[in-house]
Amino acid sequence: MSDLKPATNSERYYFKLYWNEEQFSDSGKYVFCDELEGYTFVPYAGKLKDQQEYCENKETFEDARIYIIDSIADRLSKVPCNISEARQKIYLTEGNFNKYWRQISREIYKSAYKGNISDKAAQAAINGMVDLSLMENPSRTARIGNYYTIEYKGREIDLEKQRMISKKASALDDNKIRFVYSKSDNLVHDKTCWQVAKIEYWDFGASEKLPQDREICQYCRRKIYVRNAIQNDTKRFGWYMRFFENGRVSNKALESFLGSGEAKLHMVSVDELQVMYKEDTWLIRADGKGKYTLRHNNYVMINDHERYITSEFHKQKHYPPYLPGILLYIEGYDWHKHLETKNIEPKSTASLYENGQVVSETSAKMEPLESENAKTDALKNTLPKAMSARGIWDKFKTWVKQLFRGGK
Ligand SMILES: [Zn+2]
Repeated sequence: MSDLKPATNSERYYFKLYWNEEQFSDSGKYVFCDELEGYTFVPYAGKLKDQQEYCENKETFEDARIYIIDSIADRLSKVPCNISEARQKIYLTEGNFNKYWRQISREIYKSAYKGNISDKAAQAAINGMVDLSLMENPSRTARIGNYYTIEYKGREIDLEKQRMISKKASALDDNKIRFVYSKSDNLVHDKTCWQVAKIEYWDFGASEKLPQDREICQYCRRKIYVRNAIQNDTKRFGWYMRFFENGRVSNKALESFLGSGEAKLHMVSVDELQVMYKEDTWLIRADGKGKYTLRHNNYVMINDHERYITSEFHKQKHYPPYLPGILLYIEGYDWHKHLETKNIEPKSTASLYENGQVVSETSAKMEPLESENAKTDALKNTLPKAMSARGIWDKFKTWVKQLFRGGK
């Protein structure tokens, strides 16, 4: 569309001749109205990245400006838009459309219709270059009014339809609802997936839990895995997404880590993520410069087969310094193996090991007991669920008793 040698009667030629191109053109793509024959104007509401057509054809979209020269007022207007050459479409926000359609119409009229047909027919033809489908929904139609702006009219819909439409809307507003699907296919989506807009109200289903019998949507799989791992911490959903994004965790790596549903996530702060994986708890901290530190819960060996986890953390040694590696490390971590590789001898009294070292002073910190029961009760409260199984608890109590008989 932007020929190297513009025709001498074209807007581009005029622009190059009379305007200082260097000064007035931005470095990006710009077009003139007389170059837009055959293009369709598509106004949209909200953000471009939320539009289905954009998501499906992202690579064909190009940020651009429509230049409109008003030679009488000696003014150049630049209308921000996105052009998809492959689809011959020009996307612009509803606001910009309403603001500039009168001027754009006039320019197109001058170059294509002036003198050929009646003004009314010309305007109808020009308005015909606009696709308003993104501005319409089940409850309203859209048209271009006499003031060159988009006007809406309510659609009459029956009550049952109304009820189902509002059911969909309120499910999407409901914080407890996290996943949605269409009853007629086999996919599940994160509630914020752009595909959700495509699901008809009569076909709409929603769920608090991730349905196990459905395929994961390819567009929102990251969101699905993350949302499934964060319980109801929806307000900080963006933090989680950004943490993995900044850490360059690929879809595949994220799926491998979160896909089993084994990991539970909790953002401690915007740059610190707590990961509960099987029995263990980890703290991953980003320094904002692409480096990560990893801390691991302390644990106390009860014997050479069992341990209990305390509420404190120690800095983990020998972990990969980048996030995808850390996730793999956590996923593959097995404390049994950890001990075996360190060749640790079973001890009759409890010790605290990590990488073969004493990593916490939990036992040393034990203060003199008021009563044995008080202490065991206090410790019982710090035990994570997985470890509070009866058998382990009994062994642990025996251990505590031995500890105090031993004169500590
Ligand atoms: Zn989806």
